[in-house]
Amino acid sequence: MKYVDEFRDPQKAKALLAEIQTLVDGIPKAKERPLQIMEVCGGHTHSIFKFGIETMLPKEIELVHGPGCPVCVLPMGRVDDCIAMAEMPNVIFTTFGDAMRVPGSKKSLLQAKAEGCDVRMVYSPLDSLQIAKDNPEKEVVFFGLGFETTMPSTALTILQAEADGIKNFSLFCNHITIIPTIKAILDSPDLRLDGFLGPGHVSMVIGNAPYEFIANHYKRPLVVAGFEPLDVLQSIWMVLKQIHEGRSEIENQYNRIVPEDGNNVALGAISKVFELREYFEWRGLGSIDHSGVKVRESYGMYDAERKFALPALKIADPKSCQCGEVLKGAIKPWQCKVFGELCTPETPLGSLMVSSEGACAAYYQYGGARQEASRVETEEKAS
Ligand code: SF4
Repeated sequence: MKYVDEFRDPQKAKALLAEIQTLVDGIPKAKERPLQIMEVCGGHTHSIFKFGIETMLPKEIELVHGPGCPVCVLPMGRVDDCIAMAEMPNVIFTTFGDAMRVPGSKKSLLQAKAEGCDVRMVYSPLDSLQIAKDNPEKEVVFFGLGFETTMPSTALTILQAEADGIKNFSLFCNHITIIPTIKAILDSPDLRLDGFLGPGHVSMVIGNAPYEFIANHYKRPLVVAGFEPLDVLQSIWMVLKQIHEGRSEIENQYNRIVPEDGNNVALGAISKVFELREYFEWRGLGSIDHSGVKVRESYGMYDAERKFALPALKIADPKSCQCGEVLKGAIKPWQCKVFGELCTPETPLGSLMVSSEGACAAYYQYGGARQEASRVETEEKAS
């Protein structure tokens, strides 16, 4: 297949759904409880709601929306650190657009900008480096966040800054790693996951080998999945086929993009510039060992955490906010007490409502049908 329409073909989707139903009918444990499949990546969550995939699946399958949206898992204290830098008189603070509205304990970067701070939206870290070159009298900070997908471009920008002899550029590093996070989820007693849709973009960089422990140690299937509707349906079918046959393996549905061994050039840049942190704090999930990276000492002059005195406080989420329970799949977004009323994309209380990849934002935008069906079902059971 070459064109996007072919990945959205309704007839092929119907055929896949019929095969999914046949597989589910042959899995005995699906008769006792729904089979839980976690889509790790926020991009998948977005596709699932945009194309109504959840509503097409047999009721014996429950999709659990994982923590793979880097904006959503950013803790409040780190947003406060961003604002502290943006409020420094000589700083230009640069960030991707979706991080602008993430709430800190008092305000977001967008509110700081409205109050007069020099906060600028960029499309790449190289844009930020260019701003540093154009403003040599200012300190320019780039807010780096994301999984292994965005780490290479940040690493290459730091290498470029060094090559160009730029000294007024630094990175506030919030890059996170997916493997320890999946392990933490698998160790969580709250979850009974039966399989995973693996993240397509991260896998493009890291390849498939790092997931082997999921199949070997935890005995769960993982299928690296693409983002079009037929990709997602085929990947669900591949996970179910493994369960049906009693296998747990790492398979690659997205092999038109994801090479088995990942991207060695990107991995080389990452390991040159970054090293693992002992631990990193995730919003809603707490501290996870080795789940983030920091700038190596040899590139310390480009590290905003070394350059500036930051508050670095640990701040609890508001009591009404249930982002952690949604991130762990313990509740659905619409079951949060403030969903759609106090917390909306225009006035987000939690970060899952900010990014389009956040489960709450995706539910808010596309999830009306499933939400209404669940509400009716709950009311019927109660009466
Ligand atoms: S509705 Fe808002 S507060 Fe509740 S879980 Fe979603 S993002 Fe968090």
